[in-house]
Amino acid sequence: MPSRKTPDSSKLDRIVAEAKKAQQERAHSYREQALKILPWICGRCAREFGRERLRELTVHHKDGNHDNNPPDGSNWERLCVYCNDNEHARDEDSKAGSSREKEKEKSTATHKPLEKLGELLKKKNR
Ligand SMILES: [Zn+2]
Ligand SMILES: [Zn+2]
Repeated sequence: MPSRKTPDSSKLDRIVAEAKKAQQERAHSYREQALKILPWICGRCAREFGRERLRELTVHHKDGNHDNNPPDGSNWERLCVYCNDNEHARDEDSKAGSSREKEKEKSTATHKPLEKLGELLKKKNR
């Protein structure tokens, strides 16, 4: 069998690249839309931003879902980069806590079958 890259994996690469591009375009368009309908003021610290500093103002998603972009802007919050970072740092903290819980669950779930297997082997050896 000749070993070469299968066409399937390059197809997958292309799909991933296209999905990334679409995501970037979507991100760009919701930002543009948010700029049109929301004031250029940070919702947390109330700093105002002119056009020349606009890139320091970000579009934050209230529910954390970047695909949830209602055209009326109800899921968007304008936050400066600092306040947006603060928001996400809080998100990361709570996420880290819950994933640690999941790790615990996972390890107990995988250990139990192994114990049983051990018992089975013991019985067989007897
Ligand atoms: Zn701010
Ligand atoms: Zn955000």
